[in-house]
Order: sequence, then structure tokens, then C-alpha cells
Amino acid sequence: MGKQFYSVAIDGPAGAGKSTMARILARELGFVYVDTGAIYRSVAYFLALMGISPKDTDGVTRLIDEINLQITYDETGAQRMILNGLDISGEIRTPEISKGASLASAQKVVRSFLLEMQREVARRHNVIMDGRDIGTVVLPKADVKIYLTASAEIRAERRYAEMLEKGQKADFKQVLQEIVQRDQQDMTRAIAPLKMAADAVKLDTSDLDIAQSVAQMKDIIARSIPL
Ligand code: C5P
Repeated sequence: MGKQFYSVAIDGPAGAGKSTMARILARELGFVYVDTGAIYRSVAYFLALMGISPKDTDGVTRLIDEINLQITYDETGAQRMILNGLDISGEIRTPEISKGASLASAQKVVRSFLLEMQREVARRHNVIMDGRDIGTVVLPKADVKIYLTASAEIRAERRYAEMLEKGQKADFKQVLQEIVQRDQQDMTRAIAPLKMAADAVKLDTSDLDIAQSVAQMKDIIARSIPL
């Protein structure tokens, strides 16, 4: 049987610009964009709602089957997360949920629960999927793997500017500290830690703006996928 769908895996640390770039590329290429961080964030949101600590393995295991998650797309192509019938996309971008998602994502039961869901989207569409373990675990046979990174300071600056722009209160030092802490947690966990796949292309965007990053990523993608 011939190849059915193409997949592009974008991994990297928090705030490297993965979702910004992936969204733009998906639109330009006509691929479906899958933000897997939003899926982990939705689990963290549910646990917080139920008053269960993301570190509580027994509690998480008990509740996991009560989570019914759906990924949908609105008319602008933006991904929406539907948790047990409710659209929670606007609730999952807080620093608390970032932290909870990172803790919950270290739980084996959470990762296995979400694995098939992510693979299923790639079986049905051309996808650009971003996360931490897409090239290493979720789609090890992805046609293109990009490891997107930037210095922690630059990533914190971008996140800080984004928060101010949204009218959120932010403290630069705290944003930087949270980013460094989350990287550390994501890179050192036992299951599916954040690391560059052996066959990934690394792109450091510290000195690149969005347009330059997108252009370079397009070049990388074009080496393996007819655009
Ligand atoms: O990408 P984002 O910052 O939204 O991800 C939130 C958290 O979800 C990450 O810090 C990471 O712990 C977890 N995550 C993961 N694997 C993925 C995507 C996200 O463990 N594929």
C-alpha cells in the first residue's frame, strides 16, 4: 500500500515557538496542526478541577478513564480542546496549568492514555504535530523531524512579551524560572523525556524572527515532502 499521509514532528523546550511556527506552516501547507501540549494541559485542567494532585499516581490512575477528550478545529483552523463536552481551550494557558501539565505528563498512565489519540490524528490527516516526544515516541516514522530550540532567556523574553500583550500580569524572573524548571522536569522524567530524535534537524531560533524561522523550517520540510 502506498503512503497515505505525511507527518511533520516538531519537538523542543517550552517557549521555543513551536506552536507559533507549526500553526503558520500548517496553514501554508494545508496540513492539520496538532498541539499536543494542549492535550496534556487539558488533563491537568481536569485533575485540578477534581482536586487531584498531578503527582498523585493513584488518584490520577483512578480518574483517568473519566476523561473524555476531543480535538476539534474552529473556522479559523485553531485547535479547540473539548473536555467531557465542554470547550476548555481558553482555560488551559495559565502558569498553574503549565506546571500541572508538566507534572501530569510524567505519569505513565497519562502518557499511555494519550498516545493512541495522537497517533490516530496522524493516521487520518497530513499533520504537523508539536510537543516533546513526537519524533521520539508518538510518530517515530515521521517524514520530517525538527527540534526547535532557543536559549532559555530568549524563550522567557518571548513568553513574557506574549503575557503582557494578552494583558496578563507577569514577572520576567518568574517566567524564566518557570521555563527552566519545566525544561528540567520534561528532560529528566523517566518516560518519553524531551530529547532530540537521532534523525531530527535542530533549529535554534534565538537569532531568528518568526518569518525567518518559518522559512528555514519550510526548507527542511521540502527536503522530504513534496510541497
Ligand atoms: O507545549 P506546552 O507548553 O503546551 O506543553 C505543556 C506540557 O505538556 C509540557 O511542559 C510537557 O510536560 C507536556 N507535554 C509532553 N509531551 C508532549 C507535549 C507536552 O509531555 N508531546
